[in-house]
Parts: sequence; C-alpha cells; structure tokens
Amino acid sequence: MAKNTQRETRLKGLALSNGSAVGGVCMFNENRHSNLPMYKIQGGGSELEMGRVKRAIEIAGDKLEEIRADVEKTIGAAEAEIFVAHKMILQDPELISGATEKIKKENLNAESAVSQVLNTYEKRLQDLDDEYIRERATDIGEIRRRLLDVMGNMSPSLQCDTAHCQKGRNRIVVAGELTPSLTVDIDPQFTMGFVTERGGINSHAAILARAMGIPAVSALPGIREQVGCGTELLVNGTTGEVVIWPSEETVSAALAAATLTRGLPEPLEPVEGLKVMANVNLAPDVQEAIRMKAEGIGLYRTEFEIMAAGRFLSENEMYERYRTTITAMAGKPTTFRLFDIGSDKSMPFMKIPREENPSLGWRGARLLLGRRDVLETQAMALARASEGSRIHVMYPMIVDVDQFLEIRQVFQDATRHVRKGEILHGVMFEVPSACLQARELFDVADFASVGSNDLTQYLFAVDRENDLVSYDYRSDRPVFWRLLKDMAQAAQAAGKPLSICGELAGDPQYLPKLTEVGIGTISVSARRISDVRKAAAEAAGNVVAPVS
Ligand code: PEP
Ligand code: MG
Repeated sequence: MAKNTQRETRLKGLALSNGSAVGGVCMFNENRHSNLPMYKIQGGGSELEMGRVKRAIEIAGDKLEEIRADVEKTIGAAEAEIFVAHKMILQDPELISGATEKIKKENLNAESAVSQVLNTYEKRLQDLDDEYIRERATDIGEIRRRLLDVMGNMSPSLQCDTAHCQKGRNRIVVAGELTPSLTVDIDPQFTMGFVTERGGINSHAAILARAMGIPAVSALPGIREQVGCGTELLVNGTTGEVVIWPSEETVSAALAAATLTRGLPEPLEPVEGLKVMANVNLAPDVQEAIRMKAEGIGLYRTEFEIMAAGRFLSENEMYERYRTTITAMAGKPTTFRLFDIGSDKSMPFMKIPREENPSLGWRGARLLLGRRDVLETQAMALARASEGSRIHVMYPMIVDVDQFLEIRQVFQDATRHVRKGEILHGVMFEVPSACLQARELFDVADFASVGSNDLTQYLFAVDRENDLVSYDYRSDRPVFWRLLKDMAQAAQAAGKPLSICGELAGDPQYLPKLTEVGIGTISVSARRISDVRKAAAEAAGNVVAPVS
C-alpha cells in the first residue's frame, strides 16, 4: 500500500455491517467488459494477437482446472463437472481457429476476435428450440468473461491497475452499489470492507456482508471520484464513518477500538424459551450454523447459489447440495426456501425483462409460477434429497391462499413419482395481504415464517434498498407488532409453527417484543446466534453456558 502522505478526509455514510477495517481501495468496475480495447491491428501485429489468444486460453484453462479441483474437494464431484465442460469449450479447436481467422483476415485484435467468435456460438445456442441447450448459452458468456478478464489482466470483478492492485492483500472494495452478485462474487478472504455510493440497510447485499462479517458503509455519493485503486481507507461499519488516507493515529485508535472479528463468535449452548435457527445463504454457511449450535436452518436462501454460480444448477447439482445439508443437519429442522428470484436478486442468465418497479414485479412466487420448469427442477431436487428425512419447503412472497395452493400443486405434481421423505410446505409472510389471511393460510400450510425484511418494505411502502429512505425503514411501529401478534395467534389456533427469519430477529433489542407477541422461534445469520442467546438468557436472569 502506498505510504500515507496525504491529509485525512472524514466522511459519514450509512452503517450497513459492523466492524472496522483498514485497507487499500479496489474499485469495482461496473462496466468492466464494455470498455475493453477493441480495435483493428495495424501492420504485422497479428502474430502477437494470436499469441495473446493462445496464452489467454492456457491461463483460463489452468484457472478452470484449479477451480474444478477446489470445488470437487470442498463441494462435490457433480458440482465440479461444469468446470470440466467449460474447459472443453474453452479448448475447442474451433475457438482458436475462428479467432485466428478473424485476426488474420479482418485485422481484429485478440479481444475483439475472441468476443466475436464466442458471440456467434452464444447466438447459435440461443436460437435453438431446446430450453436446456439455450441455457448453456450462459456458459459461453462465462467463458468469454474469463478470457476477457485474462486478456485485460483483471481479477474477475475488480478494476485494479497493476501498480496499486490489492489482489491478495487487504482491500476495501469501492462500488456504486453493493449488489448481491458483487457480494457473492468477491473473495471474502481478502476483502476487508465495502464502501458504496448507494444501498439500503436491509438490501440483500448488506445482509450478505453482515453474514460474512465484512464491514460495510453506503450512502457516500461521489466516493468513486474521491478515491482510486490503492487509496488507503479506514471503514467503520458500526458508525458509518469512512476515512480517506487516515493518519497513523487514526488507524491505531480505530484498531485499538476495533469491534471487528472476522472469525465466528464463541458458540453458546441453546437457551430455554427461545429456539434459534440459522439463515443460510451459501453452502459453507451450513457448517457455520452447525458450529454455532443452530437448532435448525430456518431459512436457506437457495437462490444465492445460482447467483454465485452465474447459471442454473442442474437437478443433480442441487440434489447433492440439498442432500449434503440435510445429512449435515442430522435430523434438525431444515427449511429450504424455493428460489426467490427477482428485484435486487436479478439473474442475468434468466433474461428477466427490465421492469420499472422490480420489487413489485416478476419475483418470488410469481416468477416461480411463470417459470414452472425452474420450479419443477428445484422441486425434484428437493424431493429426492428428502428421501429418508423430513424437510421444510418454504414458498417466498406468497400473496394469498390460491397462489400458495397453486404453487404447492405444481411442486406435488412434479414430484409425484419420486421417492421422497416427509415434506412440509410452508408460507413466508412477507406481503401484507398474506399476513392478513394468516388464519386461512394456516388452514392449508404446515408452517410459516415471517420475512420481516420484505414485510417492513411492503407494509410501510419503504424501499429496503434505498439509503435515502432508510431512516423510515423501521419495524418499531405498533402496527407492525399488531400484525405479528395476529399471525402468532393464528399459528397457535391452528397448532402450527411460526418463526421469524428477517434481520430484526438477530437484533437483541427486539427479543422482548417477539416474546410478548408470542414468537419463540427465530432464524438469524450464524454470527448473530450467540448474541441473541446471550440476550435471551440475560433477560430471563440466567447465565448462558459456552460450548464445552
Ligand atoms: C425477508 O424478506 O425478511 C426474508 C427473510 O427474505 P429476504 O431477505 O431474502 O428477502
Ligand atoms: Mg424476503
């Protein structure tokens, strides 16, 4: 990192994820492939450009092999297969001959030649009738991205220039907005913090940053003009303060007061009167949940896995992940939420039409009904994975009873002939119309969970992603608690379980309120489990035991 010879500048943004960090800026390049050098070569540059294509294929191939081996070791052989397929496409002799021809005959540079050949492949696949093959077109996009990254000498998402690159060192990622896909794409090992121009406190990306223990601050418009790759930053995600070129005194004071623990907190034994389950975003979170003694998984956000993969997973790939999770949870309740795609969780490979108002648009339950193939594939994977066990399947963004029944029917029809275990079907209470029909929904559903993140957004008409209105994104209003109490009473009358899995469940200040309205089961990120257990034990006048 460059030595600090500058005067420090203090800025105040919106605190999204606790902890402090110091590091060098890595600018996230939002248009990373739209401004790659594409030009016609002059004179005798074709040998050089052909060499660049060959070298890029070799490097990208080695990288794919590394990823394949890693994925096979950490996740499974089925998941690793896709990287073998990518390597085969990459090393297809047609790619190199096609690019060579473009370089020689049309004088294109390496980037243009490779892009054009892969664009043609992609277009050919997209034009085919077969849905499965059409989806393989996204693999071509993935390979193009890898090759262009290598040619541009970039890390997958970051725009580091070589002189100041923080790759492999403490880096603070600076971006316009912290999108969920940026968050899952970035290597958490080296990412010490996030600083963004925009982004609300309960956006999915903020939830991910908190779950990963990475400090984050948003609402700093213009920050991208004030810093560049290598600028030293101090981020305090607890107070929302960001210091550009902090002085040595500022850094030592921050480190002395640091609240940041990248490791997990100490696990505590379960406490009486409060069942604490875990929210899981990606497969490795399952192990964290187990380490923190979660009493189950109350919310597995299955859509994050496909977002991280940048493509749909096959039925087998999903099956393996779900089966591994069920086995690891050893009989504890395990709740898989069906894909909640749409709004900020956009999946470029799905080609969702652009919407003016995506959070009120084609998302959650609506999208599942519109893409039955997606729903049926996931249903098959879940049903097969449930064999010999009991699982909970939760339906996102349910609006009313008919919609729930319709989706459940699709699930059941698709899995009718599959060998499966016991599957409980539950509703997420995130849309006010569903909450107001809690009694009717409990007549037909096996369980429910309150998604307070979206419920707050829709009940108070306040965008969870917009930092300009985050002051008004509050759940501490009586009407919110009145609604929760009605739902808890409906659950009790029906004798069915109700939990809460939104972010407020992990905030100990709300525990007394949750108890008061009759909700005794919560699901929170693994990092929050010990804090809420400690608060619950203290409120009951007990001391909570660390795990021996
Ligand atoms: C919620 O809305 O509270 C919820 C848990 O779902 P998500 O945060 O993934 O929208
Ligand atoms: Mg939600």
